[in-house]
Amino acid sequence: MQIVINIETTEIDRSLFATPNTHWIKTSSGYEGEKKLLNNLIMQGAKGLICSVPPSKAVVEQWLSNAEDDVFIAHPGLPKQTYPKGVIFQKVEISNEGLGVALSSMEQWFLKHSTRLAMPDILTGKSVMLVGAGITNLILALQLLDNGYNVDIFDQAPKPGNGHWSEHGCSNGGGDARMFTLTEMDNYNIKDRLCQKNPIFENNISSGGWLIQDDIRENGKQHEWLDTHNSIPPWLASVYSEDIYQLNAAAEPLWIDLVSNHNEIFQDVVHRDGILRLYNTPQQFEWDIVRQDKLGALLDTYDITYIKENFPSLKMACEKGKIAGGILVKGFTVNVHKFVQKLVELITDKGAKLHWNTQIDKVLRTKHNVVAGLLTGDTLLQSDHYVISPGVYGNELLQHTPCEGKIHGVLGAWLEIPNHKRLPLQKSLKLARKGHLAEDSNITVACNSRGHNALIIGSGYGYVGDVSEQKQYEQLINQNQLDVLYDALKDTAEEYFGDCLPEGADDFQPNYKYCIRPWTATSLGLYHSEVCSSGGTFIVSGGHNTGGFAQAPIIADAVLATLKGEQHPLHFIYHPERNHNFTRKYLTMKTGLKLPSVTFKTRVRDDTIKSDNPFRWLDKTTSEYFDGKRVVLFSLPGAFTPTCSTYQLPGFEENFTRFNEKGIDEIYCMSVNDSFVMNKWAEQQKITNVKVIPDGSGEFTRKIGMLVQKDNLGFGLRSWRYAAIVNNGVIEAWFEEPGRSDNHSEDPYGESAPDMILKYLSSSSTIAAE
Ligand SMILES: Cc1cc2nc3c(=O)[nH]c(=O)nc-3n(C[C@H](O)[C@H](O)[C@H](O)COP(=O)(O)OP(=O)(O)OC[C@H]3O[C@@H](n4cnc5c(N)ncnc54)[C@H](O)[C@@H]3O)c2cc1C
Repeated sequence: MQIVINIETTEIDRSLFATPNTHWIKTSSGYEGEKKLLNNLIMQGAKGLICSVPPSKAVVEQWLSNAEDDVFIAHPGLPKQTYPKGVIFQKVEISNEGLGVALSSMEQWFLKHSTRLAMPDILTGKSVMLVGAGITNLILALQLLDNGYNVDIFDQAPKPGNGHWSEHGCSNGGGDARMFTLTEMDNYNIKDRLCQKNPIFENNISSGGWLIQDDIRENGKQHEWLDTHNSIPPWLASVYSEDIYQLNAAAEPLWIDLVSNHNEIFQDVVHRDGILRLYNTPQQFEWDIVRQDKLGALLDTYDITYIKENFPSLKMACEKGKIAGGILVKGFTVNVHKFVQKLVELITDKGAKLHWNTQIDKVLRTKHNVVAGLLTGDTLLQSDHYVISPGVYGNELLQHTPCEGKIHGVLGAWLEIPNHKRLPLQKSLKLARKGHLAEDSNITVACNSRGHNALIIGSGYGYVGDVSEQKQYEQLINQNQLDVLYDALKDTAEEYFGDCLPEGADDFQPNYKYCIRPWTATSLGLYHSEVCSSGGTFIVSGGHNTGGFAQAPIIADAVLATLKGEQHPLHFIYHPERNHNFTRKYLTMKTGLKLPSVTFKTRVRDDTIKSDNPFRWLDKTTSEYFDGKRVVLFSLPGAFTPTCSTYQLPGFEENFTRFNEKGIDEIYCMSVNDSFVMNKWAEQQKITNVKVIPDGSGEFTRKIGMLVQKDNLGFGLRSWRYAAIVNNGVIEAWFEEPGRSDNHSEDPYGESAPDMILKYLSSSSTIAAE
């Protein structure tokens, strides 16, 4: 989403808002100023404007007629005039804070809008296949069954329990303790307002970072992931945090409902209500009282005397000066293994069919890239709807969705220690040790495998990167760095719970464990839905960082909303393209987005016209060119220009049959040239397979963000070179030459060449199921 910022004050710190899609201008008042503003809005393909002086009605009308649909204006006062329908208006303060608010409101509006466009009209089917029997899909299964759906669940692992815990995803494999609080699923992008980069993934663990591998930049996928993490400005990271907390808060009543409606799954699972938060410094203690209160989580505040008297197991730590204070917050913990076992029993009783040891190898797509079923071996599985939540190792199943490549792995370590029976800890804890390597620990009251009281101290994070090839990740982990993490856990165990430990308990080695969690560069979870061939939906949810357990009921709620054809806040908060709104230049054209509606002025032959030049004008719309077909569209700077005439156009023309065999119905060549020029060029090149589309006024090219100035060659406005596979009017794959800019001194050609498109078509898992 492109946004023009036209403000007068110099008090704004522009560097905070310098993203690739914010364009800063300063216009004078009067006719010239208005003209400059309008030019900028149109040239940038802007959807939003932040301004200190509101634009005139005439400017807004012209802007609206050029924008695909509604536009958003943020301004300090109320508009003095009535703007036409289609203008969303917001009152903002022109300050660093106000600008952040305006930008994030625009982003939310844009996401809501684009998410709505991806919803199917009517959903009636009642059968749902779930891939992954992790905590998120198990809670979802329960909600689906309660809402009258038929559920099949597939997991590659054996049935949990009976010693099979570690083979599951991190729901089960990752230790036994899980916590719900209103600040679960924290945002790890939060950084100092003036610090543009949060280096946690760049520094190794012994230097206070999270890096547990030797060379993170070697792998291109990691490079991209880290760049995404680093590119998030501080104000945007704060917006993400608020959004995550909003989802946690919305999950709370759903947990309460689960406890009252399905109390059996909370029995005998060491279910403890209320979480005690402890702090080692008075500053953090005081700061967090305010924060937790603001979030509505604060239940009580405890000083040291109270903690000593009421929590005997913490007496020693208080006496040693390790605790500055504590607060009781909303939340609970369970032993997740027992909880999962009960959940599996309950949903089986309710009719869910669980298919253990069943790996889903592929999502089957038609030649139009529409999901048609799931493949396990040679068996095709089909239902009305599909929900894929494969945790950290399931990237293969996310291919051709915008979630692909976005989930990396972050190691979570924990240490289980026996809890001395004489000093039982009633509440699970969150311990903040400012400045310590195990800075934030979750200490969960649990039972060990023999049913004895135990404390599970979970802390420490280690970035292991892309673990989609499951077997390799162990080799990525630097054991020395892992040992540093384990030592930090041991230090917390000894310093805080030394007197809970049995005599001589100094060999902690067998009790150290780790597991890899799914993690996104933005800290936001992922949620994607698309219409499948059954007319139902195909949904991906995942990447739930530290809070997949806490958020499980709200994720289920969002899935149910999709199945009912309704919108849900999680759909746009966890929209997989969300961050790209602010970090990528021109979000406009990416996989999954619809082409704009444009009418092209073409000249067609008409033999009924008795003249030397039997051609007439014919208007053709984007729909007429693209609906119901899978096509290749390529665009170039100009007809008759060298690269276009020598390589690109002939390359597509000669390979037409190969494209056709790979499921392509048409190939279109577009240029910012009129129909006379395009037709003559096609005739001169003896083109019979490829069809030319004249975008003489550049309207289509501008609306997809590809219009660039080529004044250095005397061409004026032309198209940047790109190609796309367009499926029924929606972008399936996008190929763009690097370095798009005005007056570029070169004419890069390679990414959009026919060979690259053929390569994609060959590697794509698209199977012509129709
Ligand atoms: C030590 C630790 C402590 C944590 N503590 C908390 C906490 O206190 N609170 C909290 O909210 N969160 C916590 N988390 C995070 C939370 O556990 C995760 O976010 C959550 O478990 C993710 O659940 P999931 O269902 O999305 O994925 P997973 O649990 O990873 O489940 C995915 C499932 O999909 C299956 N699968 C994958 N690919 C395929 C395929 N191709 N075919 C068939 N099956 C497939 C896997 O076998 C797996 O069972 C913790 C995580 C760890 C590691």
